[in-house]
Amino acid sequence: MEPNVSRREETDSPMKAWNITGVREIMLEDRGAAPVPDDSVKIKMLKGALDTPDSLVFKGQAGAIPVVPGRQGMGIVSETGKNAVRFKRGDRVYAGPLSACGDCAACKAGRLRECAALGQYGIDRDGLLCDFAVLPQRDLYLLPNKVTDSESVFIERAAAGISVLDRLNTEKGEYVVIMGANATGILLAQLALYYQAVPILVDVRRDRLDIAEKLGVYYTVDAVSSDPLKKVFSITCGQMAESMVYALPCSLPLSRAFECVMPGGRAVVTGFAGSGEALSVNLAPLIDRQIAVSFVAAGVENIPTAINTFASGGIESDPLVTETIRFSEVDKFLADNADDPFKNIYTLVDIDRL
Ligand SMILES: [Zn+2]
Repeated sequence: MEPNVSRREETDSPMKAWNITGVREIMLEDRGAAPVPDDSVKIKMLKGALDTPDSLVFKGQAGAIPVVPGRQGMGIVSETGKNAVRFKRGDRVYAGPLSACGDCAACKAGRLRECAALGQYGIDRDGLLCDFAVLPQRDLYLLPNKVTDSESVFIERAAAGISVLDRLNTEKGEYVVIMGANATGILLAQLALYYQAVPILVDVRRDRLDIAEKLGVYYTVDAVSSDPLKKVFSITCGQMAESMVYALPCSLPLSRAFECVMPGGRAVVTGFAGSGEALSVNLAPLIDRQIAVSFVAAGVENIPTAINTFASGGIESDPLVTETIRFSEVDKFLADNADDPFKNIYTLVDIDRL
């Protein structure tokens, strides 16, 4: 008896997945026909993304090899397990980046981020750069029509940004210095505007600051041509900022970033820190100035809010796609670009385009 396996499976072609099989080794594998468990959904993947964590896994600096890369993606439901009643065939869904067990005390209380067996797609469990994925329905989110396919691969970053602003308890009119004009930083700057705060975005890359300016971020600081501290001092009329966000990967020094914050202010370090490289800072000045520092790794609890923010037009991500590649180009892209985490803001993968 095979109550978990759908009949239609037998007629499907084998699933294809990229698999990082060793350090700097990746291959496209046929994975056979995968059964769809009762609580799971089979998705025809349409879009995925390649990002710094994928490069770190490819280089053997993070994650658990072998693993299918791809922390997140979107696609169309092609089949549902008999208990996966939240979705139906044809639904557009977003998947990723965290996978909770669904059974532990934290999961049952709805605090998925605190799951005792939390995994990350593309890092320590198979990710989403595959033509078909079978995933538990609790890791999936229905996409409204107003959220485009390419916007959906930024949902996790936007959700993390919302979690950062929640953590900072940002109020209207407050200055938020954002260090790092990467995908997280630029989305965060837009979210700060959306919540009527005043973002000041700092980076060494003028081209990225220009993108942010076109998206409405009016205070940008080019750290090559000017001193960020002096600029923040001037913009805030000598007060310095109420809060600061250090968005990884960031080429600006962490220690100096805290100097942008006023005494008694708040700071958050966010992004993927799994490379094993030390992020060090002298705590003494932070203690003296009573800066409240905290850390946000992901924003899974805010994924529905992020989806709604995209749907309402509150944030925009298309200019953050530096490059779009085909599914067949994943191996070449990783081999050519893994050593430069700053080359692309974000790389979109057209999974449905071979
Ligand atoms: Zn759990």
